Amino acid sequence: MSLKVLKFGGSSLADAEHFRLVADIIKSEPTRRYVVASAPGKRTSDDTKITDLLYKCHALATDEEDITAVFDEIKDRYNSIIAELGIELDLTSTFEKIRLAVLHSSGRDYVASRGEYLNAMILAKYIGYDFVDAKKVVFFNEDGSFNSELTNDVMRDVLSKHERAVIPGFYGSMPNGTIKTFSRGGSDITGSLVARATSATIYENWTDVSGFLMADPRIIADPKPIKKITYKELRELSYMGATVLHEDAIFPVRYSKIPINIKNTNRPDDEGTFIVPETEEISENIITGIAGRTGFSSITIEKAMMNSELGLGRRVLQVLEENGISFEHFPSGIDTMTVIVGTKALQQKRADVLAGICKNIDPENIFVEENIALLAVVGRGMVKAKGTAARVFVALANAGVNIRMIDQGSSELNIIIGVDSNDYVTALNAIYREFVK
Ligand code: ADP
Ligand code: ASP
Ligand code: MG
Repeated sequence: MSLKVLKFGGSSLADAEHFRLVADIIKSEPTRRYVVASAPGKRTSDDTKITDLLYKCHALATDEEDITAVFDEIKDRYNSIIAELGIELDLTSTFEKIRLAVLHSSGRDYVASRGEYLNAMILAKYIGYDFVDAKKVVFFNEDGSFNSELTNDVMRDVLSKHERAVIPGFYGSMPNGTIKTFSRGGSDITGSLVARATSATIYENWTDVSGFLMADPRIIADPKPIKKITYKELRELSYMGATVLHEDAIFPVRYSKIPINIKNTNRPDDEGTFIVPETEEISENIITGIAGRTGFSSITIEKAMMNSELGLGRRVLQVLEENGISFEHFPSGIDTMTVIVGTKALQQKRADVLAGICKNIDPENIFVEENIALLAVVGRGMVKAKGTAARVFVALANAGVNIRMIDQGSSELNIIIGVDSNDYVTALNAIYREFVK
């Protein structure tokens, strides 16, 4: 029997008008039984997300500054939604409880989580679904890692007792009952957890774009939508900056191979993108999509006969590990190796890292270059199509972009290219235009 889980993002629940669209979508199919709600997002491009206002409240309270103005802004947002929808719901005592909690140094995660908590309560009331608090069905371990099996068992059990329910996204509880959130954009993960626990036939992720687009619409004008994409491709793209879906939202549904459909709340009839476990179909463009991020640095190490020195790579990475820095890429030549790391992470430990590498491997030369952007060209079709890499490089050369690093994933699913941050937009455009005519 068909069962759909829906997750609505912040922009889809930003105001009363959007709540109406959301209710219409949910009510249009009886199989749409479980709904995950985000906190109200931006109504216009210069608006502030409720989650960000809550973080601000927490920061003010921590500095013992007055939170009244920001807290009132939050209350007003919710109250105007309630008033405009004409719902009988008085949140006065709930707001007061939250306000006191903010003032009495409740955790930062608790404060942030109230955005989804309140919005899910309003949505549940508006559409007549049960409200199920995420703290009762999403669990973290003592060390802060996510407890997937406990979550799945309890959530399955709890939701089986609710024919229809709204669950707030983004947070869960620690073993001692305190609230912990996922990383930003984490309501996508909650949606995926609910889909797994209820053995949904599909997980519909409703947002403000008609699916996953081949490139970031904020950089490429009117990019083509992707009809179908595999879990693996999606992870590559979302990790590399295509923020439509949280990169970790794939894991829960992967167990039961539940497809995800990215849909547009403002254009519900558009097909959107299907994210599937696997597919034989190949995109007509060969590549599936391009994504990218700025803010990387490279550490280049030179030493003659490096390739024959056993354990050298391990010793370089050990230094990073000891300094709590994870690396993105690690391309190496015969006498050189380069490690790509996040600039922010490196900045704080730069001196220790460089001293550590010098001590561990005694290089002839070592230098750091900042302002690197990474681009990921992703496509399951690249394995079969000859010359894809060549087309990427020619397109970049013709656009006058100097390539700083190349790394082709062993799965042949992606090609990662490092360029100067100043060339980032030009590079993204050049590759997009090469493949999408
Ligand atoms: P939500 O609030 O619904 O979770 P997000 O803001 O997290 O929505 O994600 C949707 C946004 O992701 C879009 O509005 C768009 O600006 C951005 N985005 C970045 N890369 C892409 C891409 N490749 N395809 C579609 N949208 C993208
Ligand atoms: N509201 C949270 C955020 O802004 C979670 C989410 O939107 O998924 O990050
Ligand atoms: Mg999101």
